[in-house]
Amino acid sequence: MIAKESLFIGAHMSISGGVHQALLRGQEIGATTIQIFTANQKRWASRPISEKEIFLWEKTLNETQIKKVMSHDSYLINLGSPKKDVEEKSLKAFEAEIQRCLQLNLNFLNFHPGAATGDTEESCLNRISANLIKMVPLFEKNHSLKLLIETTAGQGTTIGYRFEHLAYIIGKVHGILPIGVCLDTCHIFAAGYDICTLDGWNATLDAFEKIVGLKHLCALHVNDSKQALGSRKDRHASLGKGEIGLESFRFMMEHPKLKTIPKYLETPDGETMWKDEIALLQKFAKQTCD
Ligand SMILES: [Zn+2]
Ligand SMILES: [Zn+2]
Repeated sequence: MIAKESLFIGAHMSISGGVHQALLRGQEIGATTIQIFTANQKRWASRPISEKEIFLWEKTLNETQIKKVMSHDSYLINLGSPKKDVEEKSLKAFEAEIQRCLQLNLNFLNFHPGAATGDTEESCLNRISANLIKMVPLFEKNHSLKLLIETTAGQGTTIGYRFEHLAYIIGKVHGILPIGVCLDTCHIFAAGYDICTLDGWNATLDAFEKIVGLKHLCALHVNDSKQALGSRKDRHASLGKGEIGLESFRFMMEHPKLKTIPKYLETPDGETMWKDEIALLQKFAKQTCD
């Protein structure tokens, strides 16, 4: 039987009023883990976390049951951009993001790999890998933060909608940087990986194991999808209210390969809904433990 405490289930919480408030909001809805933005995700400019904020963060973290906190990087960052100015700004913003994650001693930094915007996918992948390697000096003293490449829906020219893309980047940076994958259920479904049934989940995980390696799977974003299988469109839906369907999330919670992997909801409708969704996922997991 898996104890409730070893199930890491949470959601993306707001840092409004101070970064530590996200922990309290998470606690409030029964989360055992949370995802946050460490800065305004729609702006290039940001500031480091202050000493006072770090103090409050550490204190609150100790007082709650929240563990394995993940940051989601800014939506503006594109480490694979062929445009020099965008690439430069992205590098600066990504470096500042890593610094803030280190200040808060976070476990994961989830990032969107990038978009080719007119260039080939291969040169975009090479640029992403080379830019990631530039971050190596930041990790010299820290051994707990891991960079997680998020699987994408493949909307527009974004990279990361095939497991081969993730394997390519990991192949270039593994052993040099702490790297892993965060698999977003809505995104992989929109990218064409059918996870509606248990057979579908098994086939998807087999493909992941063969191409990337399950040892690199560190986290899951748990979202249903408003758009159809293979639509390449990124539109999150509440669990059971989309094209993936509720049963898929039961299979996910029951699956021995997925059960203990930290999970973060990014579904619509906010905290009231997340409270119910967290309870539901816990129930799915518990039913197989008892
Ligand atoms: Zn994301
Ligand atoms: Zn996501």
